[in-house]
Amino acid sequence: LSERLSGVFDRLTKQGALSEDDVRTAMREVRVALLEADVSLPVARDFIKAVEKKATGAAVTKSVTPGQQVIKIVHDELIAVLSGDEDPGRLKIDNPPAPVLMVGLQGGGKTTTTAKIAKRLKEREGKKVLMASLDVNRPAAMEQLAILGTQIGVDTLPIVKGEDPVAIAKRAKTQASLGGYDVYLLDTAGRLSIDEELMAQVEAVRDVANPRETLLVVDGLTGQDAVTTAENFDSRIGITGVVLTRMDGDGRGGAALSMRAITGKPIRFVGLGEKMDALETFEPQRIAGRILGMGDIVALVERAQETLEAEQAERMMKRFQKGQFNMNDLKSQLEQMMKMGGMQGMMSMMPGMAKMQKQLDDAGFDDKVIKRQIALINSMTKKERANPDLMQASRKKRVAAGAGQDVSDLNKLLKMHRQMADAMKKLGKMGKKGLLRGGLG
Ligand code: GDP
Ligand code: MG
Repeated sequence: LSERLSGVFDRLTKQGALSEDDVRTAMREVRVALLEADVSLPVARDFIKAVEKKATGAAVTKSVTPGQQVIKIVHDELIAVLSGDEDPGRLKIDNPPAPVLMVGLQGGGKTTTTAKIAKRLKEREGKKVLMASLDVNRPAAMEQLAILGTQIGVDTLPIVKGEDPVAIAKRAKTQASLGGYDVYLLDTAGRLSIDEELMAQVEAVRDVANPRETLLVVDGLTGQDAVTTAENFDSRIGITGVVLTRMDGDGRGGAALSMRAITGKPIRFVGLGEKMDALETFEPQRIAGRILGMGDIVALVERAQETLEAEQAERMMKRFQKGQFNMNDLKSQLEQMMKMGGMQGMMSMMPGMAKMQKQLDDAGFDDKVIKRQIALINSMTKKERANPDLMQASRKKRVAAGAGQDVSDLNKLLKMHRQMADAMKKLGKMGKKGLLRGGLG
């Protein structure tokens, strides 16, 4: 995609912003790339629409080409769509013993993944885990789970011949309670395709087990079929998450995007091999890179990002040197802080700011506080932001009320602004020398 796009954009002269035509041309290529990556058509269409809206009119910075700029927007949007839970690897398994139901087509990797997850829960979370195979269709499947259990040191429910899956599920529950297990994993029988009889069986198991989590295990190499499978299982059984297996192969990852977009259910884990350790928490960045089909995309995008930030910082520095520091500047600073996860942002690169940073830290300056302060600034008019000295009693009342806060909160913000503006002025007097210490320039 990157080659194709830069081809398209080589012919374009650099302009200040992406034009509608630039974006449309680029989107044609992005669309092809998405379809080639196995993203389903309606999902690709929605995706393109969202990107188009964001890309048209977006500023193009000096050091990246419009093509790179579009790629960055596409990449960011991919991550936004792919991102589900904040912590996809953390299963909701409080209140022991917690049942976890594993479902999926035959050969998708259910049994292997069951054991991988069991090992992970045992080793990383110190859980006492029990595994049970409900696969009565293939006797070897039960043996397979038992062998894996021995290998990873996790108990499996003893095999009783002639039992049906519902009976096994009930026995697993009893055993898990009596044995003091934290969690028990139910590995269900596979099916070659969505098949009514086996679906009904899974449904019956679900009803007796009442699982805390129902994980669908799908082969990441099956592309479009994986999406259909996910849709079917989700509407019939109700899943809480997806595990994509065989991502060590040359799966193109588009299925992940479609599945996420269509079912709305998070992708939790990715299987990266047959070994018991080959299971990783899902990372949207990785799949996004895969969908865009280029190894160097991430580096490229990061460079673009850094450039954007450096330019923004440079512009701001110039203003500070002139002694200008209004509420809009404060807002950018606050936003920057949030992005950098606290006070490690631009301010800490400036001399003289360390002391203020400590004060702010002491005042319990966290994301929540910052968000409230940004809300206050947002509640000001354009004029007030440009000139905070305008803030007199009646204006203060209005602004505070608009942000759902007290005037005293606003006063604190104004005081902080005054202190920072003073500090900036002093810095400005120091001149350019030394101001951009820390590699911003
Ligand atoms: P089930 O029928 O859904 O229970 O599937 P199995 O767990 O028995 O897996 C079928 C085959 O796929 C086995 O040979 C596994 O070793 C293999 N397998 C499972 N997950 C992965 C994976 O993430 N990568 C690779 N390369 N192979 C896998
Ligand atoms: Mg199996």
